[in-house]
Amino acid sequence: MQDIKDLTLKELEDRLKQFSSQKYHAKQIFSWIYKKSVFDFMALSDIPEDLRVKLKGEFSIISSKLIKLQKSSDGTQKLLLQFSDKSLIECVVIPAEGRVTGCVSTQVGCKFGCRFCASGLSGFKRNLTCAEIIEEVLYLKEKAKPLKLTHLVFMGTGEPLDNYVEVVKAIRIINSPEAFNIGARRITISTCGIIPAIQKLSEEKLQIELSVSLHAAVDSLRLKLMPINKRYPLKDLINTCKEYSEKTNRQITFEYIMIKNLNSNLENAEYLVKLLGGWKLSKVNLIPSNFIKELKIAPPNKIEVLIFKDYLVKHGVNVTLRRERGQDIDAACGQLRLAYAHK
Ligand code: SF4
Repeated sequence: MQDIKDLTLKELEDRLKQFSSQKYHAKQIFSWIYKKSVFDFMALSDIPEDLRVKLKGEFSIISSKLIKLQKSSDGTQKLLLQFSDKSLIECVVIPAEGRVTGCVSTQVGCKFGCRFCASGLSGFKRNLTCAEIIEEVLYLKEKAKPLKLTHLVFMGTGEPLDNYVEVVKAIRIINSPEAFNIGARRITISTCGIIPAIQKLSEEKLQIELSVSLHAAVDSLRLKLMPINKRYPLKDLINTCKEYSEKTNRQITFEYIMIKNLNSNLENAEYLVKLLGGWKLSKVNLIPSNFIKELKIAPPNKIEVLIFKDYLVKHGVNVTLRRERGQDIDAACGQLRLAYAHK
């Protein structure tokens, strides 16, 4: 049975035509599912009964089960979902400072093996479909209540640009006024730096935010942290990002996880200045790493972080320092992983 969330509004209108139904019902169906969170076709009271029966026979709406919910003392909630093939994924809702951000996964596991990230520890299983990505958003929207889900980041398990078609389709549906109506500028894709996909994304005319995992500003160190650097080295990556920001006129955020005794001294800050200093449409987001026991990773102390940050500011790099949330439930950056899978 097809998941109705795999269809854009236009695709659903076309399907309704095949049922000899009026296409305006597509907007009503979108409204029931995405705005009112009603997941039983027979409960769509303004849809003719014969159409409801046809929809019920052709489509499913929800295909996963929420099997675990963890709540952090800071309000962050981590959800564990199980899809019909038993695949497990996690997503997170983070209320902070007047906004509520949902962090979604795009793949079951990850194949890129970044050394600081727990997400790939169990290997790669499969891509999520557009419908499954949207399903995460439906859950996050419910868990955000009574607040409203305002922002989305594609920073959970998986590399979004390695699942390009499904992710871009899901973003178009999430962004559409008939569905969640979350503004493109409130949606961030985070990538480890897949150059052809960044180039393709620059053609999509989507006003989304792009964030690139940098974590080191010289190839020798980045290669140790991120095996993808072998295929797409820094010089090519930065040139591609500059082309992206010129074409889209959008700022790119470079994520930099600070790891004790590895990439957080002044020499590393100097490399970063050489790489990005003076480039106005770029920003570095410093993220003191979390403790990940399997990977023996720890953050530098607060003074080291501030010295590093000050050096960048003094040398013309736009910098922010991310405040981590959800650490007590392993929901912070790089911590999403299926802990029970290792038991
Ligand atoms: S940081 Fe992203 S690309 Fe790298 S292993 Fe983790 S999930 Fe995969």
